[in-house]
Amino acid sequence: MSKKNTKYIFVTGGVTSSLGKGIVSASLGLLLKSRGFNVTIQKLDPYINIDPGTLNPYEHGECYVTEDGAETDLDLGHYERFLDSPTSQDNNVTTGRIYQTVIEKERKGDFLGKTVQVIPHITNEIKRRIKILAKQNYDIIITEIGGTVGDIESLPYIESVRQLRWELGENNSMVIHLTLLPYLSASGELKTKPSQHSVRQLMESGIQADVLVCRTEHKIPKEQRAKLAQFCNVPSENVIECMDADTIYQVPLDLQKQKFDEVVLKELDLPIKKESDLKDWKNFLKKHKNPKRKIEIALVGKYVSLQDSYKSIAEAFIHAGAEKETEVKVRWVYSGDITTENVAETFSGIDGMLIAPGFGDRGIEGKVLAAQYAREQSIPLLGICLGMQVITIEFARNVLGLEKANSMEFDAGTPDPVISIMADQKNVVDKGGTMRLGAWKCALKTGSKLAEIYGAKNISERHRHRYEFNSEYQQEFEKNGLVPTGFNPDTKLVETIELKDHPFYIGVQYHPEYKSTVETPHPLFIAFVQACSQRK
Ligand code: GLN
Repeated sequence: MSKKNTKYIFVTGGVTSSLGKGIVSASLGLLLKSRGFNVTIQKLDPYINIDPGTLNPYEHGECYVTEDGAETDLDLGHYERFLDSPTSQDNNVTTGRIYQTVIEKERKGDFLGKTVQVIPHITNEIKRRIKILAKQNYDIIITEIGGTVGDIESLPYIESVRQLRWELGENNSMVIHLTLLPYLSASGELKTKPSQHSVRQLMESGIQADVLVCRTEHKIPKEQRAKLAQFCNVPSENVIECMDADTIYQVPLDLQKQKFDEVVLKELDLPIKKESDLKDWKNFLKKHKNPKRKIEIALVGKYVSLQDSYKSIAEAFIHAGAEKETEVKVRWVYSGDITTENVAETFSGIDGMLIAPGFGDRGIEGKVLAAQYAREQSIPLLGICLGMQVITIEFARNVLGLEKANSMEFDAGTPDPVISIMADQKNVVDKGGTMRLGAWKCALKTGSKLAEIYGAKNISERHRHRYEFNSEYQQEFEKNGLVPTGFNPDTKLVETIELKDHPFYIGVQYHPEYKSTVETPHPLFIAFVQACSQRK
């Protein structure tokens, strides 16, 4: 299919936020891909931050990092996990970035003396950002508009969609509106009025929704479906029910049962190219739902009261768990609560421990205690990014006897900075987008556990950090059994460490969780789940 025939699907949300537009978009992407279309998914976020990199995870959950080093919304993680294909900076655009681009152009004089306005300048920039992906020759681009219809912040996006639909012409674009059908238990009824109103609100902005996807806790009775169709101006088969599912990975199959993909292809005047092939997906789900064994892994972090903060890690456990036919139960442990007195009790009965990524010194000492406990009790441990740094600090203090060893992030004046600031980070002032980000190569030592796990010597993984293992201490660590086994081939930066004489004690400076997908579970998570099962 040639570039000019790229079709556009816009996904909007109504009634409330958090309805799961990301999962619906990812599910649709999967269904269309399974029919042979080349699909990508993009998220437009109506906030003014340039990207979510500077946001506390409690604001929007995890910050997801792409191959090209963009710090993005966690929905991009869903897109990659469902489609098994990488996204990039182009797949996530915020209002902040739109305005930044327009203002930079204004300063350069690109607008030739014109008054710069939301319409047309901001909307033109939004449209440009949507169409940019078409250059990569996709058959279909799904664009998810963050926020809820009616929000002041969303207006320029909605107006851009209206303009684009007009420019693209008939059958080249469509709008899917995701809404909520609240259930009144007193009368036992699903209510359609809020959805009717939000569709009408969209119409006031000049956009007719083509398909309604209705989040609901109960099946939609025939009469309600007819009502929704009639009052929202859509054929009744275009009203799609999206019931709460026990796992997000069930959603594509539930939607397909209602011919969601066929409805969409019809709206876009695209042929039903081939039978949908979801064999592998169904196989994964079967294994996920029928595990043969169960393990419990403690996830030690400081943002555990919002589990979305560690979304990719939790999903990577699900992928690896299915692969090993193992249910992975996560015990969420707030690192700030761990003390010498309660550490044994906190981790009693666990089969493995993961020390999570993070920033800042809150909860660090608890993480150090956890690392020590896992080391001494032979509990399988995976330390990711900050987790690897904590492993290093603990070992320096308790095995090398460097009592005050620390990361320069937490104690800039430490006599033993076993974790130090990377040379190219020393003079960095701006916090946003300035870390070591995205995919970097790593060469694994022959004979190391990690080389065996990956079945390869040269790997590439995604990063997001400012501090690094201080190689001045490398030999001392190595002599005592904590061995650096992975290095950046150019800078020799230490990327991985492994403890000798321990069933599984591995720290990685990178984030393997970002690359785990349903189709390609991550080898490190698979090996970790395996090691935890063996302990059991
Ligand atoms: N705060 C640490 C650093 O900047 C670790 C970052 C992380 O865990 N992503 O190096």
